[in-house]
Amino acid sequence: MDLSTLQIPVEKTNESRISGVDFENLPFGKVYTDHMFITTHRDGRWQDARIVPYGPVSLEPAAKVFHYGQTVFEGMKAYKDTQGKAWLFRPEDNQKRLNISASRLVIPEVPKELFMEGLNTLLKTDLEWIPKQAGSSLYIRPFIFASGLGFHASPADEYTFIIACSPSGSYFSGKVSVRIEETYARAANGGVGFAKAGGNYAGQFYPTQLAVSEGFQQVVWTDDNTHEYIEEAGAMNIFVRIGDTLLTSPTSDRILDGITRKSILQLAQSEGIPTEVRKIKVTELLGAASDGTLREMFGSGTAAVVSPISSFGYRGKKYDLPELSDSYASHFKKRITDIQYNRSEDPFGWRYPVN
Ligand SMILES: *Cc1c(COP(=O)(O)O)cnc(C)c1O
Repeated sequence: MDLSTLQIPVEKTNESRISGVDFENLPFGKVYTDHMFITTHRDGRWQDARIVPYGPVSLEPAAKVFHYGQTVFEGMKAYKDTQGKAWLFRPEDNQKRLNISASRLVIPEVPKELFMEGLNTLLKTDLEWIPKQAGSSLYIRPFIFASGLGFHASPADEYTFIIACSPSGSYFSGKVSVRIEETYARAANGGVGFAKAGGNYAGQFYPTQLAVSEGFQQVVWTDDNTHEYIEEAGAMNIFVRIGDTLLTSPTSDRILDGITRKSILQLAQSEGIPTEVRKIKVTELLGAASDGTLREMFGSGTAAVVSPISSFGYRGKKYDLPELSDSYASHFKKRITDIQYNRSEDPFGWRYPVN
């Protein structure tokens, strides 16, 4: 494939489903656009890159993704401004991270040009599907899986890379109550926690289900070794505000390097908000909760931008967080969405036009 002259053929559907979609009442991730991008890695190279109508993919039962979970994904969004122009937010960071995840699972990397050109061509084809409604956006799901065959536990000889999209409503999750987890772990030293690998999420469902049955919505993961330090909130990075200092755990091979997380850190630093990237002990949270300096906790990620935490449970006790009128959570949500929807200046060059 000569990437410098990459031309991605587009096979258009002759039955668009867009007129049946209620854009005023979009769920999250359940409605799919008319088209998808697809390419196959075979004989050492990505080939047959094309846009086709969204629809089922046919796989044999021996496809290795079913047996060994060799699959990685990304999550990103496209936004429309009031002029109808479409934008992405730091898409090259998603492209890089997809390859970081892929390499860890011995999945072939996707060249930047192929990723960006495939994404752009898909978004131009499905441009009408990017919602214009305030707060709504087009959720984009790039993913790679082992489509090669064999029951032998070894890397596959064929992979499929797809980008599919879902117009999604604003993610008003409300405030969530979380439980600090001490039995199960999301990730371990030397493991794949830093990668968006499918199995990481499958492994979270059971402990999360237990927390839900106890009246919480999410789990706060602690380190697998001592369970003394908080690491992530569900599938989001975690922030804590003690006094006016904003704290977040450092990334590691157990913690996913979130793009929202690093954007919040960069904004906070540019605004002179004191930030500390360091390990956060559960006992520090308990101490700050009891002396009244624990002001906020929130998760950060592409889907919700920020997800405020109303209370946390630890060893059978519940700790409530105060209601703040001037929370960091709402401040950063506004600053980031203003950049994403082209409502403000873009001092860091994060906005990326679709064209
Ligand atoms: C995707 C993800 C995040 C958030 O990353 P963003 O780039 O901000 O969307 C955080 N933690 C986990 C485990 C994730 O999978």
